[in-house]
Parts: sequence; structure tokens; C-alpha cells
Amino acid sequence: MLKTFRGGIHPPEKKEITEKIPSLPISPKDEVIIPLRQHIGAPCEPIVSVGDYVYMGQKIGESTSFVSAPVHSSVSGTVKEIKPYPHPTGGMCMSIIIENDHKDTLAEGIKPFTLDLLPDKIKEYVDSLDPKEIVSKVKEAGITGMGGASFPLHVKLSPPPGTEIDTVVLNGAECEPYLTSDHRAMLEHPKLIICGALMIKKAVNAKKILMAIENNKPDAIALMQTLLKDYEDFEVVVLKTKYPQGSEKQLINAVCGRQVPSGGLPSAVGVVVSNVDTCSAVADAVVRNMPLIRRNVTISGDAVANPANLIARVGMKFEELFEAAGGLKENPEKIIMGGPMMGMAQTRVDVPMIKGTSGILALSKAETFGDKEGTCIKCGKCVDVCPMRLMPNALTTFAIAQDMEKLKEYNILDCMECGSCTFICPQKRFIVQHIKKGKQLLK
Ligand code: SF4
Ligand code: SF4
Repeated sequence: MLKTFRGGIHPPEKKEITEKIPSLPISPKDEVIIPLRQHIGAPCEPIVSVGDYVYMGQKIGESTSFVSAPVHSSVSGTVKEIKPYPHPTGGMCMSIIIENDHKDTLAEGIKPFTLDLLPDKIKEYVDSLDPKEIVSKVKEAGITGMGGASFPLHVKLSPPPGTEIDTVVLNGAECEPYLTSDHRAMLEHPKLIICGALMIKKAVNAKKILMAIENNKPDAIALMQTLLKDYEDFEVVVLKTKYPQGSEKQLINAVCGRQVPSGGLPSAVGVVVSNVDTCSAVADAVVRNMPLIRRNVTISGDAVANPANLIARVGMKFEELFEAAGGLKENPEKIIMGGPMMGMAQTRVDVPMIKGTSGILALSKAETFGDKEGTCIKCGKCVDVCPMRLMPNALTTFAIAQDMEKLKEYNILDCMECGSCTFICPQKRFIVQHIKKGKQLLK
């Protein structure tokens, strides 16, 4: 039986646009912009100066804070400027701008990319590794969750003393419409994902790995099942295609039947969750000492001439990625980093992609939601679909009235801003926007 959670919606998938298109590696143009904040936690400080020569993969920013992740150069070249630059999550961010010498000269200790570098006997190889060394390499490589949340992975791999982790859940749901970068990653470098997943299991001393994939990716499910047939305690769990199936709490509930408490972390129920392609970055870091400087990105939407999956470098401007996908064939109504449900609207295309950029969408007017909001007819549909069992209609009313007591009483902070309520509302109420404002007021 297909696993799933209570509530949720079925938005048009739009994955057929890019799911069969193999990922194309592209190289940055004359400069890359590396923001010093690409993760949840403390931003980095620059450790290079203007005029310095840097190598591809060289660490260029770091922080002494535990909840942080260093940043690295994605090209070789010269540091041109260090200055505040527009960030795709909004506002300005101190960034290091590097002039690309187009030589891709690797920093010392990093081995060039080739799948042949993976040992033949992956399981035996991972068994021989020291868990502490895995965590330390993950930290040095600046690996953050690549599914969008961008939480530093070494923090997840270092649960508080006394916390026992028994299960690693690999998130291959990719439930946001349009996005297919994880799907392609599972098809194109499955062994790297398996290798990284075993490393995560080893690091947290878990007993089993559950790779969760939605049933709209039958090719990835079949491939992983074949490759994992000789692995004990590592299985593929097939999920019902539903949004937001990939959200951490819903995923854990569907796959393990466990309920993460309000305000709690997955470790509270003995689970570590990792996005599938984050596992590739782990294997890359441990086997090759390669930091997270490139990733799969889906470029899609009706306004894109040739929607594509790209393997692009951190620091490349959105406009370069659109260009690699044939450019924009019409003026987009909306540009979004990430998926249409939880992604972030953009006002310019010269912002850089970051470690958490899973996709960039250029949507036509027909693909967007509209800008007129109706009045609530109390149909209750938003309540039915809310995966967090909240009352989105009531939260909207209290947020508009700025009633802090009621917002607290109705647990507004449990809202994960999935947008299911907004999607289902027949009156096109801007529910999630009102809730976001209510949360800000409360904070
Ligand atoms: S209230 Fe929050 S969690 Fe519930 S459906 Fe709306 S956005 Fe999602
Ligand atoms: S779905 Fe829209 S109209 Fe229906 S109760 Fe919720 S807010 Fe009101």
C-alpha cells in the first residue's frame, strides 16, 4: 500500500516538462557571486581579500558558530570585490565576487570528478570510515540540505548527547510541481546517492535507511530497488503522490508512522532526514574532498524557451541559467526560486543561485494565481487540506485583526507555509500571505 499523510492537495504536477531531460553541465561566465549566507544559522565572514587568487573548491568564507556552513569558490580566478549584493531570499547579503579564469584549477586535496572514484565495494568502504571523520568532512565541505531548507548537515549529524537515531529517511519525494532535479539525480548518479546515504547512516549510527520516493517516478523507484536488492536495512518506500509529501514532518509520519512533536526536530523521534541529492554531496565530500559548489537545478515554466535540467555552479546568475535553457520566450508574470508552492518570488534575474536552489521557474500569467482575493465563504476546504491540522481560515481572520492571543491559541507557529490552503481556497484568499504576516507580528 502507498504511504502518505493526512490532508494535502494534488496541484497540477507539470513535471512532464523536464522529467525526461538529462541534466546538462554548464560553466559559469566571467564572474560568480558567492553570498556569505546560504544556510540557516550564522553567516560567514570572508577569509580572502580583494586581489587574492582562489582555486575551485577553496574555502573563502567561514564562521566560528556551530550552526553555520563555510562557503567555497565555484571557479578558479581572482577575488574582484567583496560587497553587499542582492540575495535570492531577499535583501542584500555580503558576497564575494570572483572573476573566473575559466581554468577550473582545483584547490589542493580535491580529486577531479569521476564516478570511477567510487570504490567497487561501497558498503565495505563506508564500513571502514570513522563516523567523526564523515561529520568533519561534511562540515568542511559546507554541506547544507539541498531540498530548500538549507540547514547545515553536520548539525543534523551531531544530535544532542543521549539522542538515539535509529532511522535515516531519504527524501526523494520532490513533491513541488515543476521540479525534477532530484528525480534526475536519482536516475543519473544513483550510486553516489547510495554511497552518501550509507555515510550518513554510519555517522549517526542508525540501524536502517528508508528511501522515500513518490509513485510519479516509477523509473527512479525501479532503478533504486534494483541497486539496493543486496543491501540489508536499506529499502525503497513508495509514497502516494501528494503535496506536501516531502515536508519533513509529513514524510516521517508517512514513512515511519511517527509524529514529530510541535516545535520539535526529527531527532526527537529517532530520525534524521536528508534530501537524496544531499547524499551525493556527502559522498563527493568524503571521497573527493569536494565541497558543495555545484548542483542539479530545474529551469522550467511556460516563459522558458527550452526548459531544462542543468548541473550548475553556486554563484551563477539566474539570467545565465535562463540563457542556458534557451532564454525567456515571453515576459514572465513571476520568477520563482524553488517550486511554485513554497518557493521565493524574485524581482531580478542577476541574483546568484545558492546551495539550496533546486529550481528556477519563469511562469506565464496563465500559470500564476491571480491578484484578486475574495471573501471567505466558510466552506472549510482549507481546514480539510491542512497537513498540520490547523484552521487556516481562522488564522487569516486573526492575522488581519492582529489578534496576538488568538494567533497563539490557534498555533500559528506550527504553520509550515506549504500553501495548500491558498491553493484549495475557491475564493482565492491569500491565506498563506496573511499567516506569514501574522507570524512576523507574533515574533
Ligand atoms: S495553514 Fe499553513 S500548514 Fe496549513 S495548509 Fe496553510 S500553509 Fe499549510
Ligand atoms: S477555503 Fe477559503 S473560502 Fe473556504 S473556509 Fe477556507 S478561507 Fe474560507
